[in-house]
Amino acid sequence: MALHSHIQKVLWTQDQISCRVSELASEISDDFRSIQPPPVVVGVATGAFVFLADLVRKIELPVPVDFVRVESYGSGTESNGAPTISFDLKVDIQGRHVILVEDIVDTGNTLSCVTAHLESKGASSVTVCTLLDKPSRRKVNFELLGKIKFYRGFECPDYFVVGYGMDFAEVYRNLPYVGVLKPEHYK
Ligand code: 5GP
Ligand code: MG
Ligand code: MG
Repeated sequence: MALHSHIQKVLWTQDQISCRVSELASEISDDFRSIQPPPVVVGVATGAFVFLADLVRKIELPVPVDFVRVESYGSGTESNGAPTISFDLKVDIQGRHVILVEDIVDTGNTLSCVTAHLESKGASSVTVCTLLDKPSRRKVNFELLGKIKFYRGFECPDYFVVGYGMDFAEVYRNLPYVGVLKPEHYK
């Protein structure tokens, strides 16, 4: 199939992702089981849509689900460094705990923008659940801020990855695994 032939290397298979998503969902279910009202799950569009869809179907709590959209990447592989919220929540998060779902945390600029936004809308706490984490490229250190708990699926090596919601120039989001493109397709 043309789509799969663009991939040079698969980093995490569909099965590996599915197992890890189940583990994350059961940790979240356990950690939030006694919290009332239940947390609101907020995905960062578009990249988190596949991960969020799989994750929420394995979370055993009655959680509202919503999205924000953040513009930070163009069609290339480098962040422009100044993310802005371009589509806002419908669900009221005033006084609610929020689980912020991301596909990948890279520099951390997007997360710090979204976290500040959620706090400005009255979230009582923000917890991050990201499928992938690239700590080698971090510019914002959330742990040092001391207030954000992180659930992470996998630590990602310093590649620009695609699939499972993640794009290059809006393509490849529908790959069921995470991989790296052949160099000729990063154009
Ligand atoms: P940050 O603001 O942390 O630098 O980047 C966050 C966003 O950039 C992620 O949510 C994701 O949408 C995009 N991004 C960062 N690294 C990658 C990558 O390796 N592949 C893809 N497709 N997107 C990435
Ligand atoms: Mg994202
Ligand atoms: Mg993108």
